[in-house]
Amino acid sequence: ASFQRIKQTDDQLKAFLTLNEEQAKQKAKQLDEQGSLQGERGLLFGLPIAVKDNIVTEHVTTTAGSKMLENYDPIYNATVMDRICASESILIGKTNMDEFGMGGSTENSAFQVTVNPWNKEYVPGGSSGGSAAAVAARQAFFALGSDTGGSIRQPAAYCGVVGLKPTYGLVSRFGLISYASSLDTIGPITKNVEDAAYLLSVLAAHDPYDSTSADVDVPDYISALNGNVKGLKVGVPKELLGEGVDQEIKDKIQQALKTLEGMGAIVEEVSLPHTEYAVPTYYILGPSEASSNLARYDGVRFGMRSESGNDLIQMYKETRSQGFGAEVKRRIMLGTYALSSGYYDAYYKKAQQVRTLIKQDFDELFANYDVLIGPTTPTTAYKIGEKVADPLKMYLNDICTAPVNLAGIPAISVPCGLTNDGLPVGLQIMGKHFDESTVLRVAHAFE
Ligand code: GLN
Repeated sequence: ASFQRIKQTDDQLKAFLTLNEEQAKQKAKQLDEQGSLQGERGLLFGLPIAVKDNIVTEHVTTTAGSKMLENYDPIYNATVMDRICASESILIGKTNMDEFGMGGSTENSAFQVTVNPWNKEYVPGGSSGGSAAAVAARQAFFALGSDTGGSIRQPAAYCGVVGLKPTYGLVSRFGLISYASSLDTIGPITKNVEDAAYLLSVLAAHDPYDSTSADVDVPDYISALNGNVKGLKVGVPKELLGEGVDQEIKDKIQQALKTLEGMGAIVEEVSLPHTEYAVPTYYILGPSEASSNLARYDGVRFGMRSESGNDLIQMYKETRSQGFGAEVKRRIMLGTYALSSGYYDAYYKKAQQVRTLIKQDFDELFANYDVLIGPTTPTTAYKIGEKVADPLKMYLNDICTAPVNLAGIPAISVPCGLTNDGLPVGLQIMGKHFDESTVLRVAHAFE
């Protein structure tokens, strides 16, 4: 059914970069005939999953949306893919994304522009735009995305689905093609909160292959969905409902908060005073880490190699000039500048210090509140092409999501109605480190 649906819709939608049809059908047949292949049925037995193309899949082309990796055929699986396979979910294909996760509209893919299933003139968001569109258009049962500054939650909001960014360290990054390693996370994009809880149960685990993987007990996320929010303390950061946020979005969030109050939650206005510095901080640290991570694409070790250079240095230059798109080059230059001697203290070090202040804002609030709630994005999806010429406008769109990555905390985006234009609005619930259970419980109470 998934492949049928993809055939009907993907010419227009363009959510997938690679389909895994033959292997998927073979696996489905096997499961059908033999039942479980491992004694007991896996938690996601037989469910078709779409996976963002920056998650490495053994012998299934993995491009990260870049020409640099156009023909990259990985010889291993990301840890999350091993876990997905063990759960007996079936990989149906790899989804479109902004090159290396750099963008918020999927327009920075080197291959194609995915459209928003609600209105094909609009972007699906990004960088996990292919995954969010595939779930919204019912091409896949659910999907994996990655989130460095909002790339799971923002496309989920724009496409009217659920997107969960886990606590940094809860889900292994082994086999996730790096953008900014201190911020990168993998998480579920699903139709509803219950599916997100199931998928997270499979993803969350300590992994010795990832040195930043946390060795913590993984709670039962499914039984956390008990509908009870009585007495729950909810903070509403005023900075996330301020200037620059569409009035229609503010109204929807206020309405949702009323509903929550009606269910017995205690809702209070709070402050995250360093919010205005989150976007500049993110756009120093993200590009700095990217400039280092992307040094590996030199035409020797991975992916494409330009044939035009006639010595080693020339080969490096040509490969990187031809292989990277404009946004990736912009960030490599920004990051290289911010890390260079003479500027390091003024930019990189300063940004690290501000990151600590942003994290402290959250820590202080979480001493008194169970969750924080606000919008996922300041605006709904915008028209394709509207912001491509103005990167700064794109960057400012990350104001509600980037602080969460800087602090390393979990957050979910859940659908919160449609605007008069018929575009989805996302509500964001942020929680304490490793307290995905509460985040999911509150999100579930809205459904
Ligand atoms: N939109 C943000 C950016 O352009 C976030 C990307 C992400 O989370 N991968 O960097």
